[in-house]
Amino acid sequence: MLVVNPATEQPIAEVEQAGIGETDAAVARAKAAFPAWRALAPGDRGRLLRRLAMLVEEHGEELARIETRNVGKPISDSRGEVGMVADVFHFYAGAVDKHHGETIPVAGGVDMTLREPLGVVGLIVPWNFPLNISSWKLGPALACGNTVVLKPAELTPLSALRLAELALAAGIPEGVVNVVVGKGSVVGQRLVDHPDVAKIGFTGSTEVGRSVMRAAAATIKRVTLELGGKSANVIFADADLEAAAAAAPYAVFGNAGQDCCARSRILVERAAYDRLLDLLVDATRGIKVGDPEEDSTEMGPLISAEQREKVASFVDGDPVFRGDAPNGPGFWFPCTLVEASNDDRVAREEVFGPVAAVIPFAGEEEAIRLANDTPYGLSGSIWTENGARGLRVARAIDTGVLSINANTSVRVQTPFGGFKQSGFGRELGMHALEGYSDVKNLFIAT
Ligand code: NDP
Repeated sequence: MLVVNPATEQPIAEVEQAGIGETDAAVARAKAAFPAWRALAPGDRGRLLRRLAMLVEEHGEELARIETRNVGKPISDSRGEVGMVADVFHFYAGAVDKHHGETIPVAGGVDMTLREPLGVVGLIVPWNFPLNISSWKLGPALACGNTVVLKPAELTPLSALRLAELALAAGIPEGVVNVVVGKGSVVGQRLVDHPDVAKIGFTGSTEVGRSVMRAAAATIKRVTLELGGKSANVIFADADLEAAAAAAPYAVFGNAGQDCCARSRILVERAAYDRLLDLLVDATRGIKVGDPEEDSTEMGPLISAEQREKVASFVDGDPVFRGDAPNGPGFWFPCTLVEASNDDRVAREEVFGPVAAVIPFAGEEEAIRLANDTPYGLSGSIWTENGARGLRVARAIDTGVLSINANTSVRVQTPFGGFKQSGFGRELGMHALEGYSDVKNLFIAT
Protein backbone atom coordinates (compact mmCIF):
# COMPACT_ATOMS: atom_id res chain seq x y z
CA MET A 1 0.00 0.00 0.00
CA LEU A 2 1.32 3.45 -0.93
CA VAL A 3 1.47 6.08 1.80
CA VAL A 4 0.89 9.58 0.43
CA ASN A 5 1.94 13.09 1.53
CA PRO A 6 -1.35 15.04 1.64
CA ALA A 7 0.45 18.32 0.88
CA THR A 8 1.84 17.03 -2.42
CA GLU A 9 -0.27 13.94 -3.21
CA GLN A 10 3.06 12.16 -3.86
CA PRO A 11 3.79 8.69 -2.45
CA ILE A 12 6.35 8.75 0.37
CA ALA A 13 6.48 5.08 1.33
CA GLU A 14 5.14 1.68 0.52
CA VAL A 15 3.91 -0.43 3.41
CA GLU A 16 2.82 -4.04 3.46
CA GLN A 17 -0.86 -4.45 4.39
CA ALA A 18 -1.51 -6.96 7.13
CA GLY A 19 -4.51 -9.26 7.18
CA ILE A 20 -6.13 -11.52 9.76
CA GLY A 21 -3.15 -13.92 9.84
CA GLU A 22 -0.65 -11.19 10.66
CA THR A 23 -2.99 -9.74 13.27
CA ASP A 24 -3.36 -13.12 14.96
CA ALA A 25 0.41 -13.56 14.88
CA ALA A 26 0.90 -10.17 16.56
CA VAL A 27 -1.64 -11.04 19.26
CA ALA A 28 0.20 -14.35 19.81
CA ARG A 29 3.54 -12.52 20.18
CA ALA A 30 1.98 -10.08 22.65
CA LYS A 31 0.43 -12.96 24.61
CA ALA A 32 3.77 -14.77 24.79
CA ALA A 33 5.54 -11.61 25.98
CA PHE A 34 2.94 -10.82 28.66
CA PRO A 35 4.07 -13.03 31.60
CA ALA A 36 7.62 -11.69 31.65
CA TRP A 37 6.53 -8.06 31.12
CA ARG A 38 3.96 -8.14 33.92
CA ALA A 39 6.52 -9.80 36.21
CA LEU A 40 8.99 -6.92 35.86
CA ALA A 41 8.95 -4.66 38.90
CA PRO A 42 6.97 -1.51 38.10
CA GLY A 43 10.07 0.60 38.64
CA ASP A 44 11.94 -1.47 36.04
CA ARG A 45 9.14 -1.04 33.51
CA GLY A 46 9.34 2.65 34.36
CA ARG A 47 13.06 2.69 33.62
CA LEU A 48 12.45 1.25 30.14
CA LEU A 49 9.67 3.75 29.46
CA ARG A 50 12.00 6.54 30.57
CA ARG A 51 14.60 5.29 28.05
CA LEU A 52 11.94 5.31 25.34
CA ALA A 53 11.04 8.89 26.29
CA MET A 54 14.69 9.88 25.92
CA LEU A 55 14.99 8.16 22.54
CA VAL A 56 11.87 10.02 21.36
CA GLU A 57 13.56 13.25 22.43
CA GLU A 58 16.79 12.32 20.65
CA HIS A 59 14.88 11.44 17.47
CA GLY A 60 12.43 14.33 17.88
CA GLU A 61 13.16 16.10 14.61
CA GLU A 62 13.10 12.86 12.63
CA LEU A 63 9.73 11.85 14.13
CA ALA A 64 8.30 15.34 13.58
CA ARG A 65 9.34 15.25 9.90
CA ILE A 66 7.74 11.82 9.46
CA GLU A 67 4.49 13.09 11.00
CA THR A 68 4.48 16.27 8.91
CA ARG A 69 5.04 14.39 5.64
CA ASN A 70 2.46 11.75 6.41
CA VAL A 71 -0.30 13.88 7.97
CA GLY A 72 0.37 17.27 6.33
CA LYS A 73 0.48 19.03 9.68
CA PRO A 74 2.75 22.07 10.14
CA ILE A 75 6.22 21.13 11.34
CA SER A 76 5.91 23.39 14.38
CA ASP A 77 2.80 21.42 15.43
CA SER A 78 4.56 18.11 14.83
CA ARG A 79 7.50 19.21 16.98
CA GLY A 80 5.12 20.11 19.79
CA GLU A 81 3.30 16.80 19.48
CA VAL A 82 6.50 14.75 19.52
CA GLY A 83 7.56 16.71 22.61
CA MET A 84 4.30 15.64 24.22
CA VAL A 85 4.94 12.00 23.27
CA ALA A 86 8.23 12.10 25.17
CA ASP A 87 6.52 13.79 28.13
CA VAL A 88 3.80 11.13 28.15
CA PHE A 89 6.39 8.33 28.46
CA HIS A 90 8.26 10.30 31.13
CA PHE A 91 5.00 10.78 33.03
CA TYR A 92 4.00 7.09 33.01
CA ALA A 93 7.58 6.04 33.79
CA GLY A 94 7.21 8.07 36.97
CA ALA A 95 3.56 7.24 37.61
CA VAL A 96 3.59 3.48 37.52
CA ASP A 97 4.94 2.88 41.03
CA LYS A 98 2.57 5.50 42.46
CA HIS A 99 -0.56 3.68 41.30
CA HIS A 100 -1.26 2.18 44.70
CA GLY A 101 -3.79 -0.24 46.09
CA GLU A 102 -5.57 0.19 49.42
CA THR A 103 -5.93 -1.63 52.70
CA ILE A 104 -9.53 -1.76 53.85
CA PRO A 105 -10.61 -2.32 57.47
CA VAL A 106 -12.72 -5.49 57.67
CA ALA A 107 -13.53 -8.10 60.31
CA GLY A 108 -11.35 -11.19 60.76
CA GLY A 109 -8.31 -10.23 58.76
CA VAL A 110 -6.60 -7.83 56.40
CA ASP A 111 -8.08 -6.77 53.10
CA MET A 112 -6.10 -5.22 50.31
CA THR A 113 -6.57 -4.24 46.69
CA LEU A 114 -4.04 -5.00 43.98
CA ARG A 115 -3.77 -3.51 40.50
CA GLU A 116 -3.44 -6.20 37.88
CA PRO A 117 -2.68 -5.69 34.19
CA LEU A 118 -5.37 -6.82 31.74
CA GLY A 119 -3.18 -8.83 29.35
CA VAL A 120 -2.97 -8.09 25.63
CA VAL A 121 -4.59 -4.79 24.71
CA GLY A 122 -5.52 -3.65 21.21
CA LEU A 123 -4.95 0.04 20.48
CA ILE A 124 -6.76 1.53 17.48
CA VAL A 125 -5.65 5.01 16.49
CA PRO A 126 -6.87 7.56 13.90
CA TRP A 127 -4.92 9.64 11.39
CA ASN A 128 -5.27 13.11 12.92
CA PHE A 129 -2.68 12.82 15.72
CA PRO A 130 -1.07 9.44 14.98
CA LEU A 131 1.92 9.49 17.31
CA ASN A 132 0.35 11.55 20.06
CA ILE A 133 -2.75 9.41 20.43
CA SER A 134 -0.64 6.24 20.20
CA SER A 135 1.46 7.43 23.14
CA TRP A 136 -1.59 8.31 25.24
CA LYS A 137 -2.58 4.65 25.04
CA LEU A 138 0.86 3.01 24.99
CA GLY A 139 2.16 4.90 28.05
CA PRO A 140 -0.43 3.74 30.60
CA ALA A 141 -0.94 0.33 28.94
CA LEU A 142 2.76 -0.56 29.12
CA ALA A 143 3.26 1.01 32.53
CA CYS A 144 0.52 -1.17 34.00
CA GLY A 145 2.20 -4.32 32.63
CA ASN A 146 0.08 -5.02 29.55
CA THR A 147 1.49 -5.95 26.17
CA VAL A 148 0.01 -4.23 23.13
CA VAL A 149 -0.97 -4.56 19.50
CA LEU A 150 -1.20 -1.07 18.02
CA LYS A 151 -3.13 -0.46 14.80
CA PRO A 152 -2.42 2.96 13.31
CA ALA A 153 -4.77 4.36 10.68
CA GLU A 154 -4.06 2.99 7.24
CA LEU A 155 -3.37 6.51 5.93
CA THR A 156 -0.77 7.37 8.60
CA PRO A 157 1.23 4.34 9.75
CA LEU A 158 4.79 5.68 9.48
CA SER A 159 5.40 7.29 12.87
CA ALA A 160 3.98 4.29 14.76
CA LEU A 161 6.29 1.95 12.85
CA ARG A 162 9.29 4.10 13.79
CA LEU A 163 8.15 4.31 17.41
CA ALA A 164 8.03 0.51 17.62
CA GLU A 165 11.70 0.40 16.49
CA LEU A 166 12.60 2.94 19.16
CA ALA A 167 10.76 0.87 21.79
CA LEU A 168 12.98 -2.10 20.92
CA ALA A 169 16.07 0.11 20.95
CA ALA A 170 15.05 1.32 24.42
CA GLY A 171 15.21 -2.27 25.64
CA ILE A 172 11.50 -3.00 25.81
CA PRO A 173 11.49 -6.73 25.06
CA GLU A 174 10.43 -8.16 21.71
CA GLY A 175 6.69 -8.88 21.58
CA VAL A 176 5.67 -6.23 24.12
CA VAL A 177 4.92 -3.56 21.48
CA ASN A 178 3.54 -4.81 18.16
CA VAL A 179 2.41 -2.55 15.33
CA VAL A 180 0.11 -3.98 12.66
CA VAL A 181 -0.67 -1.87 9.61
CA GLY A 182 -3.86 -2.67 7.74
CA LYS A 183 -7.48 -1.75 7.22
CA GLY A 184 -9.70 -0.97 10.17
CA SER A 185 -12.36 -3.30 8.83
CA VAL A 186 -9.83 -6.17 8.80
CA VAL A 187 -7.06 -5.64 11.38
CA GLY A 188 -9.09 -3.38 13.70
CA GLN A 189 -12.11 -5.64 13.56
CA ARG A 190 -9.97 -8.73 14.23
CA LEU A 191 -8.47 -7.10 17.33
CA VAL A 192 -11.97 -6.31 18.58
CA ASP A 193 -13.15 -9.88 17.95
CA HIS A 194 -10.00 -11.70 19.12
CA PRO A 195 -10.60 -13.81 22.24
CA ASP A 196 -7.02 -13.19 23.49
CA VAL A 197 -7.37 -9.39 23.44
CA ALA A 198 -8.58 -8.14 26.81
CA LYS A 199 -9.26 -4.50 26.00
CA ILE A 200 -9.59 -2.10 23.10
CA GLY A 201 -8.43 1.49 23.45
CA PHE A 202 -10.08 3.23 20.51
CA THR A 203 -9.98 6.77 19.15
CA GLY A 204 -11.98 7.63 16.03
CA SER A 205 -15.45 8.31 14.76
CA THR A 206 -18.54 7.80 16.89
CA GLU A 207 -19.91 5.48 14.21
CA VAL A 208 -16.97 3.06 14.33
CA GLY A 209 -16.81 3.45 18.13
CA ARG A 210 -20.37 2.21 18.31
CA SER A 211 -19.52 -0.87 16.25
CA VAL A 212 -16.41 -1.53 18.38
CA MET A 213 -18.53 -1.41 21.53
CA ARG A 214 -21.14 -3.74 20.02
CA ALA A 215 -18.55 -6.30 18.89
CA ALA A 216 -16.64 -6.10 22.18
CA ALA A 217 -19.73 -7.42 23.95
CA ALA A 218 -19.09 -10.91 22.53
CA THR A 219 -15.99 -11.36 24.71
CA ILE A 220 -16.88 -8.76 27.40
CA LYS A 221 -13.82 -6.78 26.37
CA ARG A 222 -13.10 -3.60 28.20
CA VAL A 223 -13.27 -0.59 25.91
CA THR A 224 -12.16 2.99 26.14
CA LEU A 225 -13.77 5.14 23.45
CA GLU A 226 -12.53 8.59 22.48
CA LEU A 227 -14.98 9.65 19.79
CA GLY A 228 -16.19 12.70 17.94
CA GLY A 229 -16.98 16.16 19.22
CA LYS A 230 -18.85 19.33 18.38
CA SER A 231 -17.46 21.55 21.06
CA ALA A 232 -18.70 25.04 21.87
CA ASN A 233 -16.50 28.08 22.39
CA VAL A 234 -18.84 30.25 24.47
CA ILE A 235 -17.91 33.94 24.37
CA PHE A 236 -19.80 36.28 26.70
CA ALA A 237 -20.06 40.03 26.09
CA ASP A 238 -18.13 40.61 29.34
CA ALA A 239 -15.10 38.66 28.04
CA ASP A 240 -11.78 40.10 26.94
CA LEU A 241 -13.07 40.09 23.36
CA GLU A 242 -9.68 40.77 21.79
CA ALA A 243 -8.15 37.77 23.56
CA ALA A 244 -11.15 35.52 22.81
CA ALA A 245 -11.18 36.44 19.12
CA ALA A 246 -7.41 36.10 18.75
CA ALA A 247 -7.50 32.60 20.23
CA ALA A 248 -10.71 31.25 18.64
CA PRO A 249 -9.35 30.51 15.13
CA TYR A 250 -6.55 28.33 16.51
CA ALA A 251 -9.11 26.34 18.50
CA VAL A 252 -10.89 25.25 15.34
CA PHE A 253 -8.45 25.62 12.45
CA GLY A 254 -5.54 23.95 14.26
CA ASN A 255 -4.65 20.64 12.55
CA ALA A 256 -6.86 21.96 9.70
CA GLY A 257 -9.88 21.36 11.92
CA GLN A 258 -9.19 17.62 12.08
CA ASP A 259 -9.35 17.59 15.84
CA CYS A 260 -11.97 15.93 18.01
CA CYS A 261 -11.67 18.90 20.41
CA ALA A 262 -12.17 21.53 17.68
CA ARG A 263 -14.32 24.38 19.03
CA SER A 264 -16.30 24.34 15.79
CA ARG A 265 -19.33 26.11 17.30
CA ILE A 266 -18.39 29.65 18.28
CA LEU A 267 -21.29 30.86 20.45
CA VAL A 268 -21.26 34.64 20.88
CA GLU A 269 -23.50 36.77 23.13
CA ARG A 270 -25.60 39.07 20.97
CA ALA A 271 -24.45 42.23 22.73
CA ALA A 272 -20.88 41.58 21.47
CA TYR A 273 -21.70 39.70 18.28
CA ASP A 274 -20.82 42.30 15.62
CA ARG A 275 -17.63 43.40 17.33
CA LEU A 276 -16.50 39.82 17.96
CA LEU A 277 -17.25 38.77 14.39
CA ASP A 278 -15.08 41.61 13.03
CA LEU A 279 -12.23 40.63 15.32
CA LEU A 280 -12.67 36.95 14.46
CA VAL A 281 -12.52 37.57 10.72
CA ASP A 282 -9.33 39.61 11.17
CA ALA A 283 -7.71 36.93 13.31
CA THR A 284 -8.70 34.16 10.91
CA ARG A 285 -7.27 36.12 7.98
CA GLY A 286 -3.94 36.06 9.81
CA ILE A 287 -3.61 32.26 9.84
CA LYS A 288 -0.71 31.21 7.66
CA VAL A 289 -1.81 28.34 5.40
CA GLY A 290 0.79 26.61 3.24
CA ASP A 291 3.75 24.28 3.04
CA PRO A 292 3.72 22.20 6.25
CA GLU A 293 7.53 21.89 6.13
CA GLU A 294 7.93 25.67 6.65
CA ASP A 295 8.58 26.71 10.24
CA SER A 296 6.06 29.56 10.13
CA THR A 297 3.12 27.61 8.63
CA GLU A 298 0.08 27.38 10.91
CA MET A 299 -2.27 25.23 8.82
CA GLY A 300 -1.64 22.52 6.24
CA PRO A 301 -3.92 20.48 3.99
CA LEU A 302 -6.59 17.96 4.90
CA ILE A 303 -5.65 14.30 5.09
CA SER A 304 -7.27 13.10 1.84
CA ALA A 305 -9.38 14.01 -1.16
CA GLU A 306 -12.26 12.15 0.46
CA GLN A 307 -12.00 14.23 3.61
CA ARG A 308 -11.90 17.44 1.53
CA GLU A 309 -15.08 16.42 -0.27
CA LYS A 310 -16.80 15.74 3.05
CA VAL A 311 -15.71 19.09 4.48
CA ALA A 312 -16.81 20.98 1.34
CA SER A 313 -20.30 19.52 1.69
CA PHE A 314 -20.79 21.63 4.84
CA VAL A 315 -20.36 24.97 3.05
CA ASP A 316 -23.13 26.17 0.79
CA GLY A 317 -23.81 29.74 -0.16
CA ASP A 318 -21.46 32.54 0.78
CA PRO A 319 -19.62 32.12 4.06
CA VAL A 320 -18.95 35.24 6.12
CA PHE A 321 -15.23 34.61 5.57
CA ARG A 322 -13.22 32.31 3.33
CA GLY A 323 -9.42 32.43 3.54
CA ASP A 324 -6.77 31.54 1.00
CA ALA A 325 -5.25 28.13 0.38
CA PRO A 326 -2.63 26.97 -2.10
CA ASN A 327 -3.69 25.86 -5.57
CA GLY A 328 -2.30 22.79 -7.24
CA PRO A 329 -1.55 19.44 -5.66
CA GLY A 330 -2.47 18.78 -2.05
CA PHE A 331 -5.82 18.39 -0.30
CA TRP A 332 -6.18 22.07 0.61
CA PHE A 333 -9.23 23.72 2.09
CA PRO A 334 -9.36 27.35 3.25
CA CYS A 335 -10.30 28.57 6.74
CA THR A 336 -14.03 29.21 6.55
CA LEU A 337 -16.41 31.02 8.92
CA VAL A 338 -20.16 30.61 8.47
CA GLU A 339 -22.98 32.29 10.38
CA ALA A 340 -25.40 29.60 11.48
CA SER A 341 -28.08 28.51 13.89
CA ASN A 342 -27.49 25.55 16.18
CA ASP A 343 -29.97 23.52 14.11
CA ASP A 344 -27.96 23.76 10.89
CA ARG A 345 -26.04 20.70 9.74
CA VAL A 346 -22.72 22.57 10.11
CA ALA A 347 -23.52 23.00 13.82
CA ARG A 348 -24.77 19.46 14.41
CA GLU A 349 -22.25 17.18 12.71
CA GLU A 350 -18.51 16.87 13.20
CA VAL A 351 -17.01 18.63 10.14
CA PHE A 352 -13.42 17.59 10.83
CA GLY A 353 -12.11 20.38 8.63
CA PRO A 354 -11.46 24.14 8.86
CA VAL A 355 -15.09 25.27 8.98
CA ALA A 356 -16.46 27.09 12.04
CA ALA A 357 -20.09 27.99 12.72
CA VAL A 358 -20.64 31.34 14.46
CA ILE A 359 -23.89 31.29 16.44
CA PRO A 360 -25.46 34.11 18.50
CA PHE A 361 -27.07 33.65 21.93
CA ALA A 362 -29.08 35.92 24.19
CA GLY A 363 -27.76 35.24 27.71
CA GLU A 364 -26.29 32.69 30.08
CA GLU A 365 -29.27 30.35 30.03
CA GLU A 366 -29.40 30.16 26.26
CA ALA A 367 -25.61 29.74 26.05
CA ILE A 368 -25.81 26.65 28.26
CA ARG A 369 -28.82 25.27 26.38
CA LEU A 370 -27.10 25.66 22.99
CA ALA A 371 -23.74 24.34 24.20
CA ASN A 372 -25.51 21.19 25.46
CA ASP A 373 -27.79 20.82 22.44
CA THR A 374 -25.58 18.24 20.70
CA PRO A 375 -25.17 14.48 21.01
CA TYR A 376 -21.47 15.06 21.73
CA GLY A 377 -19.74 16.10 24.96
CA LEU A 378 -15.99 16.22 24.55
CA SER A 379 -14.56 19.66 25.12
CA GLY A 380 -15.29 23.39 25.10
CA SER A 381 -14.37 26.84 26.34
CA ILE A 382 -15.96 29.72 28.22
CA TRP A 383 -14.74 33.30 27.87
CA THR A 384 -15.87 35.75 30.55
CA GLU A 385 -14.29 38.16 33.02
CA ASN A 386 -16.92 37.16 35.59
CA GLY A 387 -15.31 34.36 37.60
CA ALA A 388 -18.53 33.10 39.18
CA ARG A 389 -20.23 32.93 35.80
CA GLY A 390 -17.28 31.03 34.36
CA LEU A 391 -17.58 28.37 37.06
CA ARG A 392 -21.39 28.26 36.87
CA VAL A 393 -21.38 27.72 33.13
CA ALA A 394 -18.54 25.19 33.31
CA ARG A 395 -20.52 23.10 35.80
CA ALA A 396 -23.59 23.24 33.56
CA ILE A 397 -21.94 22.22 30.28
CA ASP A 398 -21.96 18.45 29.81
CA THR A 399 -18.50 17.77 28.43
CA GLY A 400 -15.47 15.95 29.74
CA VAL A 401 -12.91 18.73 29.30
CA LEU A 402 -13.40 22.49 29.61
CA SER A 403 -11.28 25.59 29.85
CA ILE A 404 -12.11 29.13 31.00
CA ASN A 405 -10.41 31.99 29.13
CA ALA A 406 -8.32 29.48 27.20
CA ASN A 407 -8.90 26.85 24.53
CA THR A 408 -6.88 23.93 25.80
CA SER A 409 -8.11 20.37 26.27
CA VAL A 410 -5.09 18.17 26.58
CA ARG A 411 -2.29 17.99 29.10
CA VAL A 412 -0.05 15.08 30.01
CA GLN A 413 -1.05 15.27 33.69
CA THR A 414 -4.84 15.76 33.40
CA PRO A 415 -7.70 13.43 32.44
CA PHE A 416 -9.03 13.66 28.90
CA GLY A 417 -12.21 12.07 27.56
CA GLY A 418 -15.83 12.54 26.71
CA PHE A 419 -19.35 12.67 28.05
CA LYS A 420 -22.39 11.51 26.03
CA GLN A 421 -21.62 10.19 22.53
CA SER A 422 -18.05 11.49 22.68
CA GLY A 423 -17.22 8.25 24.47
CA PHE A 424 -16.08 7.13 27.90
CA GLY A 425 -12.98 6.26 29.81
CA ARG A 426 -10.17 8.72 30.44
CA GLU A 427 -6.77 9.07 28.83
CA LEU A 428 -3.74 10.90 30.22
CA GLY A 429 -2.92 11.74 33.82
CA MET A 430 -3.26 9.17 36.59
CA HIS A 431 -6.82 8.43 35.44
CA ALA A 432 -5.59 6.55 32.36
CA LEU A 433 -4.00 3.90 34.60
CA GLU A 434 -7.51 2.90 35.72
CA GLY A 435 -8.38 1.97 32.16
CA TYR A 436 -5.42 -0.38 31.73
CA SER A 437 -5.66 -2.33 34.98
CA ASP A 438 -8.26 -4.28 36.93
CA VAL A 439 -8.66 -4.14 40.70
CA LYS A 440 -8.16 -7.43 42.52
CA ASN A 441 -9.40 -7.68 46.09
CA LEU A 442 -7.48 -9.95 48.45
CA PHE A 443 -8.53 -10.96 51.96
CA ILE A 444 -6.13 -12.63 54.38
CA ALA A 445 -7.64 -14.22 57.48
CA THR A 446 -5.74 -13.43 60.62
P1 NDP B 1 -12.61 5.88 11.77
O1 NDP B 1 -13.39 5.87 13.02
O2 NDP B 1 -13.08 5.06 10.63
O3 NDP B 1 -11.09 5.44 12.04
C1 NDP B 1 -10.43 5.41 13.29
C2 NDP B 1 -9.61 4.14 13.42
O4 NDP B 1 -10.49 3.01 13.48
C3 NDP B 1 -8.68 3.88 12.24
O5 NDP B 1 -7.49 3.26 12.69
C4 NDP B 1 -9.49 2.92 11.41
O6 NDP B 1 -8.71 2.14 10.54
C5 NDP B 1 -10.13 2.06 12.49
N1 NDP B 1 -11.32 1.32 12.07
C6 NDP B 1 -12.14 1.56 11.02
N2 NDP B 1 -13.12 0.64 10.97
C7 NDP B 1 -12.93 -0.21 12.00
C8 NDP B 1 -13.61 -1.36 12.49
N3 NDP B 1 -14.70 -1.84 11.89
N4 NDP B 1 -13.13 -1.98 13.57
C9 NDP B 1 -12.04 -1.52 14.21
N5 NDP B 1 -11.34 -0.44 13.80
C10 NDP B 1 -11.78 0.23 12.71
O7 NDP B 1 -12.47 7.35 11.31
P2 NDP B 1 -12.03 7.86 9.84
O8 NDP B 1 -10.59 7.82 9.83
O9 NDP B 1 -12.70 7.12 8.74
O10 NDP B 1 -12.64 9.31 9.82
C11 NDP B 1 -14.02 9.51 9.54
C12 NDP B 1 -14.57 10.61 10.38
O11 NDP B 1 -14.45 10.23 11.75
C13 NDP B 1 -13.83 11.90 10.28
O12 NDP B 1 -14.26 12.66 9.21
C14 NDP B 1 -14.15 12.52 11.61
O13 NDP B 1 -15.39 13.17 11.55
C15 NDP B 1 -14.21 11.35 12.53
N6 NDP B 1 -12.97 11.13 13.29
C16 NDP B 1 -12.92 11.55 14.56
C17 NDP B 1 -11.77 11.40 15.28
C18 NDP B 1 -11.69 11.85 16.67
O14 NDP B 1 -10.61 11.86 17.24
N7 NDP B 1 -12.79 12.24 17.25
C19 NDP B 1 -10.55 10.83 14.71
C20 NDP B 1 -10.71 10.39 13.35
C21 NDP B 1 -11.89 10.55 12.69
P3 NDP B 1 -8.40 2.59 9.01
O15 NDP B 1 -8.55 4.05 8.93
O16 NDP B 1 -7.01 2.11 8.83
O17 NDP B 1 -9.35 1.85 8.15
